[in-house]
Amino acid sequence: MKKWIVLLCFMLIASVFVPFSPAKASSHFTDVGNTHRAHAEISYLVNKGIANGYSDNRFNPARQVTRAEAAAMLGRALNLNGSQRNTPFTDVGKGNMASGYIVEMSKKGIISGYPDGSFQPNKVLKRGEMALLIGRAFNMGTTVSAASKSLMDKGIAQGLPGGSFGTELQIIRADFSVFLARTLNADFRVKPGEVSFGTTMYVNTGSDTLNMRSGPGTSHRVISSLKHATVVGVGTVSNGWAHVKVNNVIGYVSYSYLTTSKPGSVLPSPPPSAASDLTVIIDPGHGAHDPGGVGYGHQEKNVVLNIGRHMKSYFDMVPINAKMTRNSDVFVTLQDRAKFASRNDGDIFVSLHTNALNGAANGQETFYYAKTAANNTNVQQSRALAIYLQERMQETWPLRDRGVNPFGYGNFAVLRENTVPAALVEMGFIDSSIDIKYINNEAHRKAMGKALFLGTLDYFYHYEGRTDVLPYYKTVGATVSKKHH
Ligand SMILES: [Zn+2]
Repeated sequence: MKKWIVLLCFMLIASVFVPFSPAKASSHFTDVGNTHRAHAEISYLVNKGIANGYSDNRFNPARQVTRAEAAAMLGRALNLNGSQRNTPFTDVGKGNMASGYIVEMSKKGIISGYPDGSFQPNKVLKRGEMALLIGRAFNMGTTVSAASKSLMDKGIAQGLPGGSFGTELQIIRADFSVFLARTLNADFRVKPGEVSFGTTMYVNTGSDTLNMRSGPGTSHRVISSLKHATVVGVGTVSNGWAHVKVNNVIGYVSYSYLTTSKPGSVLPSPPPSAASDLTVIIDPGHGAHDPGGVGYGHQEKNVVLNIGRHMKSYFDMVPINAKMTRNSDVFVTLQDRAKFASRNDGDIFVSLHTNALNGAANGQETFYYAKTAANNTNVQQSRALAIYLQERMQETWPLRDRGVNPFGYGNFAVLRENTVPAALVEMGFIDSSIDIKYINNEAHRKAMGKALFLGTLDYFYHYEGRTDVLPYYKTVGATVSKKHH
């Protein structure tokens, strides 16, 4: 028991505070290069263990910040105890990676929920909320207007070119990092009279490009040509010309072609890269009135949805499509799940479950439909898929190995009635005192999402001979498995 606690503590600390070895830091992120305008601030926060990437090599600087992410970053900056625990909010369970920080900060009055008792952890943070959080956390104001004025006075944030603070605008990870780094370290702040290009805007020109010029007017020479949707840092605006910085190049563009929210893509989509013809169907089991197995205050339906979303987030980093049979707490019949793959051009189907047996069993197992039938021509494919998934699950959560198809053949409707190679994973027993330590932990769930992603890559590579998936291992800092089938 003690060993478990020590191990868990170590893993928790390792995952929360030391996401990557500091030496590699953000030079590691392929999407935050040396010339990225927030490179120094993001490096600073990553080195301090305050900010994490989405993976070893992606920070997603242009992605919006959720309230939970903001709470975690601020909580780490304040050195609060982030160990995950139950919270007073109806929608933040112990499994949420930020649950500990949300509890600590709500106790201190830095963060608060909504009148209905919810916290809305996945809601995108707005600039006004950001100002208020920083204001309360660092004694810079307790109202949105006081805090935003204080942040502007101190050189932590700027107003928008129009003069307002942009209270209602959503904030992206790069900007939140810049504001937090400036809050923590005055060296990053904008000195009076200095131009900061701290307002994120986007080029909105449709299929045309936007000329960036050496001065504010069309008589100045063109120094760069910006594509639609390019992210620019805006300093000041005068007479319709914005002073901007793009990848360390400073110049001027016509302000009328900039927007504060990311414009939709109107460019012809790029030619599909190698593997984009592949589609993986992710099937989180149960839902709504069907909770699945329960144990230790957790319901299977929520656990598998969470892990399914993590799994999908890995596919979102590479050119393989992933579609989920459900992405909310809804009920989908087994027949509809089985048909989902063919209706959505799926290549393989992975059903996610946790097991339960009144606390009497533990471990991981994977099933495939092994009975050859007229409508099931995928026995060998499904078997290979099951083997690779089980292997990766074992590598990630060191639980008891119950094997592949421990009870003969996997006679489940979602497998039996499927028309594509299909496997069903039982990732652990939700009512086992051993397995629950992995099942209830957000970092472990994310790792499981990655493991299932890798298991499907292993299948495509080894069984289908899809060598074009090889680079995707590197995207997530992993390597191909041994050949097993
Ligand atoms: Zn289940």
